[in-house]
Amino acid sequence: MVATTIKKHNFSAGPAILPQNVFQEAAQAVLDFNGIGMSILEISHRSKDFEAVMAEAEALVREIGGFDDSYAVLFLSGGASTQFFMAPMNLLGEQEKAAYVDTGTWSSKAIKEAKLFGNVEVLASSKADNYNYIPKEYSVPKDAVYLHLTSNNTIFGTQYQAFPDSPVPIVCDMSSDMFSRPFEANKFGLIYAGAQKNIGPAGVTLVIVKKEWIGRAGRKLPSMLDYSIHLEGESMYNTPPVFPIYVMMLTLRWIKETGGLKMVEQHNQAKAKLLYDEIDNNPCFKGTAAREDRSLMNACFLPTNPDYEATFLDTCKKADISGLKGHRSVGGFRASIYNAMPMESVEVLVEVMKDFAQKNG
Ligand SMILES: *Cc1c(COP(=O)(O)O)cnc(C)c1O
Repeated sequence: MVATTIKKHNFSAGPAILPQNVFQEAAQAVLDFNGIGMSILEISHRSKDFEAVMAEAEALVREIGGFDDSYAVLFLSGGASTQFFMAPMNLLGEQEKAAYVDTGTWSSKAIKEAKLFGNVEVLASSKADNYNYIPKEYSVPKDAVYLHLTSNNTIFGTQYQAFPDSPVPIVCDMSSDMFSRPFEANKFGLIYAGAQKNIGPAGVTLVIVKKEWIGRAGRKLPSMLDYSIHLEGESMYNTPPVFPIYVMMLTLRWIKETGGLKMVEQHNQAKAKLLYDEIDNNPCFKGTAAREDRSLMNACFLPTNPDYEATFLDTCKKADISGLKGHRSVGGFRASIYNAMPMESVEVLVEVMKDFAQKNG
């Protein structure tokens, strides 16, 4: 048996695992924030202590991701689902065109919303194959305002290994692989990520957008849906999600202390390799995603015999493995192995899979 001190091995797809020390510090801040004798939950967002949190969170986003001053860094609410419409609302004129690639449930929702605000050209889709691969054969029209991609398809376990060359800036939903690997910041006009998959708790959405792009659609917008208002108000036009931002800041500190995106990526690659090797070699399981597009974040796999499904989940439960049930649109199992997932937990899962094959295979 793998020796482990971890009480539960949490493979949940989101909200998902965060580093243990982040939980401890967050818990402490709920009781007494910075030794000020008050909880972070009861102080003003305009207080000096919280303004320092905002400033550090923004600085960490810039430093970790390599975003210079030409980008605005915003901490908003409404989840990635709000960005599905807020991005085209702010960026895409009524008569203009945006290009989208349909790689899963989240992409198709983004497409549906964008159609409310301009012309949407879907360049490619893997829907006919239940989104088990990332389409690569398409060319991006030069007259599109942007190319929208979903970098990691949380439900189907596929991920862009490299972003396509595009003549126009990329707008990217990075909700489930934000800060899991290095990327070239300047390819992107806008990046958005609901925090709860990889960089924090639910309640805050990180939006990074080229300042020169803000307001380009020329549309009249309600203040809360206007990037320029949030930029001007430094994400405090209204009360921001104070606690989620604090926990995201702690998680970003942890990423920096871990050694930044290069080190995080190495760790993620090692975990994914261990797990996919087992999926490929174990007679009781088979992977669902095309090998070259496999996600480092969400590994989807099916039992080779439908009878295994319930018994394997039951076996996992006994081994303190949680959150392994696959999304209903794929079935089987999904192991989400985000940044904070320790190698030890993946080792435990792999051992349980090996053991299962010995007893059932
Ligand atoms: C979870 C997820 C979403 C939806 O995020 P919400 O914050 O719940 O709106 C969007 N895109 C991707 C890739 C996701 O994984």
